[in-house]
Amino acid sequence: MSTQVKEHNKNYEEVKSYLEKVLNLIEKDTVSKEDAEWITKETVENFRDHVNPGFLDYRKTVTKDTQFAAVEWSDSGSRFKDVNGKEYIDCLGGFGIYNVGHRNPKVVHAVEKQLHRQALHSQDLLDPLRAMLAKVLADITPGDLKYSFFVNSGTEAVEGALKLAKSYSNRTTFIAATKAFHGKSLGSLSGTAKSVFRKPFQPLVNGFRHVQFGDIDMLRKTMEACATTGDDVAAVILEPIQGEGGIIIPPEGYLKQVRELCDKFGALLIFDEVQTGMGRTGKMFCAEHSEVVPDIMCLAKAFGGGVMPAGAVVAKEEVFKTWFPNPFIHTTTFGGNPLACAAALATINTLIEEKLPERATEVGEYFINGLKEKAKGHEDKVLEIRGQGLMIGVEFHKDEVGYEVSKGMFDNGVLVAGTLVNSKTIRIEPPLTIEYAEVDRVIETFGKVLEQVKA
Ligand SMILES: *Cc1c(COP(=O)(O)O)cnc(C)c1O
Repeated sequence: MSTQVKEHNKNYEEVKSYLEKVLNLIEKDTVSKEDAEWITKETVENFRDHVNPGFLDYRKTVTKDTQFAAVEWSDSGSRFKDVNGKEYIDCLGGFGIYNVGHRNPKVVHAVEKQLHRQALHSQDLLDPLRAMLAKVLADITPGDLKYSFFVNSGTEAVEGALKLAKSYSNRTTFIAATKAFHGKSLGSLSGTAKSVFRKPFQPLVNGFRHVQFGDIDMLRKTMEACATTGDDVAAVILEPIQGEGGIIIPPEGYLKQVRELCDKFGALLIFDEVQTGMGRTGKMFCAEHSEVVPDIMCLAKAFGGGVMPAGAVVAKEEVFKTWFPNPFIHTTTFGGNPLACAAALATINTLIEEKLPERATEVGEYFINGLKEKAKGHEDKVLEIRGQGLMIGVEFHKDEVGYEVSKGMFDNGVLVAGTLVNSKTIRIEPPLTIEYAEVDRVIETFGKVLEQVKA
């Protein structure tokens, strides 16, 4: 017994000195060369031994022999730096987290002020920022979306939406789309379309079907069939533009027709705007482009302004009132905490004040035109460049070409989405605040790398 205690003390001494070193580093504005070497070594070794060594094979920031590993350390605006001080323009944008930029001063300010007063809520009294944020969301979301349930992530927003649709409808069938991405917890994963993520975890939630995204006839026939078999559809869940699937924009009029079908069959329409929301596509919410009002909308990613993890499920009163009699039917401890709400409120204010959705349209057009110009003469490599606002996809004929381009751009200080396993379409989703000079540099780099890469 006593030896056990002794051993614990010894371990804690080691842990304590390690913690001290790390906490000291957190406090530093700049790191020395020795610090940088130690940080890199510790990061790579601990990823290997304690996080998941698989990442060291997959991340393009690590060379084959792990001789070089880019370890991020600081960020601001549209850029971040690695621990050695090398700067990158961030065109991955955390897959759509950084709509108002990295550490936007207005968001940081609101969160800091809130942090000085109260970080998390009592869980029992009425917390004011939740109420005020819910009111603001009712004001800015399309149509009569009115009630909000706050969460910490995209997948939680989707879980909330699915449960709400079940509560409301007493139905259990959901229709999602091929190439959809809704998250990776068991409920949202049921809507996600990709086999590699789903198959190992089957059976998932009962009742999910997938139809071809953009194919209204297939949706109609599926809903008709569901009605005849008694598998009535609780909801259709869609991303208005598919992000993870490779920036797929549905045909003109599709979303409107989906809305009509949902109404005809008494199904709810859920828009997963986790990636398309908060100004990304040139409107505050992508639904506005098609003037379709969903019954439930899911938000996350940029909702917390790139400072706090935050998300929301926003629904019409008719739907949400199912949860009025027992508000404890679906809860989360941290969802809607004061820091997250402060971040979201400041984010919405920044988007409106700086007209960032409009800016996304303008800069997006400029960006896409520039990329298209550079792709001329490379039709053997580039299949298509498309996008809406600052949600841009560059589709290649082959995964390998996409990977080489994204890797080449990274070596030249530009981060775009494109991994070893998913590079057919590289995604470009920079902060909506990105400067034109930065866009020019990205376009130049794209052109230069295209010249070097083989078809
Ligand atoms: C990223 C994403 C999610 C999942 O969000 P997490 O915060 O990673 O759980 C869900 N839906 C869409 C459309 C997304 O892009």
